[in-house]
Amino acid sequence: MNASDKFVIAPPRPSAVRVHGGGLFPVRRVFCIGKNYADHVKEMGGDAKSDAPVFFAKPADAVVAGGVVAFPQATENLHYEGELVVALKSGGRDIETAGAAAEMIFGYAAGCDLTRRDHQAAAKQRGGPWDTAKGFDQSAPIGEILRADAAGDMSAASLSTLVNDAQRQSAPLSTMIWSVPEIIIALSKLFELRPGDLIFTGTPAGVGALTQGDRVAIKIGDLLECRFSIGAHD
Ligand code: MN
Repeated sequence: MNASDKFVIAPPRPSAVRVHGGGLFPVRRVFCIGKNYADHVKEMGGDAKSDAPVFFAKPADAVVAGGVVAFPQATENLHYEGELVVALKSGGRDIETAGAAAEMIFGYAAGCDLTRRDHQAAAKQRGGPWDTAKGFDQSAPIGEILRADAAGDMSAASLSTLVNDAQRQSAPLSTMIWSVPEIIIALSKLFELRPGDLIFTGTPAGVGALTQGDRVAIKIGDLLECRFSIGAHD
């Protein structure tokens, strides 16, 4: 691209997440891991002892700050999945050590991996891709990012998801099958990670369906929170 080249249509606005205390974190890619809590693998009818992590992705512009999320088109079974989200400030390939992986982390947020469960079930059945199940518009509500130095040791925190004030998910992050550094190491052997990448780290048991008007709150530790409600059909 030359400096003199002009875009032929208006370029899309970059996706971003608010940082606690001020500033915006620019989103490059959104990586997600599936089957990362044994009790959730079990509730989905799988085997907890899978030997390689399952990765998928959402488009960067699926990220929304919360508020009202439109009930997506083309589904009868929209599910919440409360998750810890990791934001990267640096990148790399073939990361080898947990220490090197930890140094790449800018901060953490609470987020929701919204899922069209009916599409995912159909994709699993025919061995097809998960894009329509996972990568639809507004499928990644994320709360403010807390900087890593302020967040402290996230592996000691617990995640809970409340729907209309009733607790539906509750699990210590220490019960992840693949820890945050292990996820970063594994992803870096498949993709060159870069600053701006977000990683959804999987959901514990207790996923369920959402309908119009539902209020969702995902809380991690004392500081991370993602709140949104489900609006009218898109
Ligand atoms: Mn998920």
